[in-house]
Amino acid sequence: MDSSTSAKPITGGKSLVIIGGGVAGSLLASSLQFIGDVTLVDPKEYFEIPWASLRSTVEPSFAARSVIRHADYLTNGRVVVSRAVAITEHRVLTADDRAIPYDYLVIATGHDDRTPSRRIDRLKQFESDHQRIKAAKSILVVGGGPSGVELAGEIAVDFPEKQLTLVHEGPRLLEFIGPKAAGKALEWLKSRRVEVCLGRSFDSDNGPGEADCTFLCTGRPVASGWLKATSLKSSLDGNGRLMVDEHLRVKGYKNTFAVGDITDIREMKQGYLAQRQALVAAANLKLLMSGGKESKMDVYKSKSIKTIVSLGRKDAVAQYSFTTVIGLVPGLIKSKDLYVGKTRKLLGLEPHFAYE
Ligand SMILES: Cc1cc2nc3c(=O)[nH]c(=O)nc-3n(C[C@H](O)[C@H](O)[C@H](O)COP(=O)(O)OP(=O)(O)OC[C@H]3O[C@@H](n4cnc5c(N)ncnc54)[C@H](O)[C@@H]3O)c2cc1C
Repeated sequence: MDSSTSAKPITGGKSLVIIGGGVAGSLLASSLQFIGDVTLVDPKEYFEIPWASLRSTVEPSFAARSVIRHADYLTNGRVVVSRAVAITEHRVLTADDRAIPYDYLVIATGHDDRTPSRRIDRLKQFESDHQRIKAAKSILVVGGGPSGVELAGEIAVDFPEKQLTLVHEGPRLLEFIGPKAAGKALEWLKSRRVEVCLGRSFDSDNGPGEADCTFLCTGRPVASGWLKATSLKSSLDGNGRLMVDEHLRVKGYKNTFAVGDITDIREMKQGYLAQRQALVAAANLKLLMSGGKESKMDVYKSKSIKTIVSLGRKDAVAQYSFTTVIGLVPGLIKSKDLYVGKTRKLLGLEPHFAYE
């Protein structure tokens, strides 16, 4: 059900609407909540750290820290739990028929995940997935991107007795990174007795083999389809991404920014880069909203330093610009806490606090 929650009184001043409460949108909202009148529009009442969901599937209590109510970090702003469906020159229109006025606008709709809108229902979903895994003898994971590989890694480590198959229609795993790192991940999975079927597409009626339990991890589409019915249509590139200038403003617009995976910036689509973009856009918005000069705006410089794909609780495979590493060292960086404490801290929350 779509609804809205208002937290404590907002400061007044210029109004800012942020569409999308994912990695970038949540950080931006948290950073600017005491600068202007901030409204966050998201279909869910919570921000979910995307790369922590796979751990929550095998250990549901992990989600207590990684599924965070927007109202917990946005204490001086407004959360509208609904989907943005259109934009006019001065307003954002939502699926539940609101028209939210803005002076400044940020599009941060990254990827679409059709997860429940209430946090409690999302936690129940993890619990139910966990029960399905426990009850199954054989498990099929469909999709060899980061979600499929990381989920297979979690299951292989926590449930080594299960008969686990990973099916991927492409010629190799992890096509978003180099073949060396992907090859190392493949060897790791095989060494944990995971059957990996490459070049095989999954047909739900006639899938490969019979499994007691199946997880579909087949990629998350860029959530820009809704923009095609708005004036920003002409700002989308051929891949459905918003074209931005060096200050992260949508090209041709003075008061509209875009951050995160929705942008056309040429770099790997990663959460830590979405966070860097959010901080640059926050600095620029702070400047503009307080009447500063455009010429003083920060410039975003793209750089992809690393990508780490976790393989269960201890191991990971990392690709840096100069080398590829697998094992405990990259595992120490990502796989233990999956950056959950760090992400919470960035939002001004207690890193290790679990509220239930
Ligand atoms: C399995 C996996 C592992 C990963 N591991 C890492 C890692 O180790 N390190 C790393 O840096 N990155 C990692 N990533 C990538 C990272 O998750 C993304 O780059 C990041 O989430 C992008 O952030 P974003 O804010 O642009 O979009 P998202 O986090 O996708 O957020 C988009 C938000 O917009 C909302 N939305 C969509 N449409 C609308 C609409 N019409 N109206 C309102 N709201 C809308 C969505 O519901 C969502 O809340 C991983 C991704 C996956 C899937």
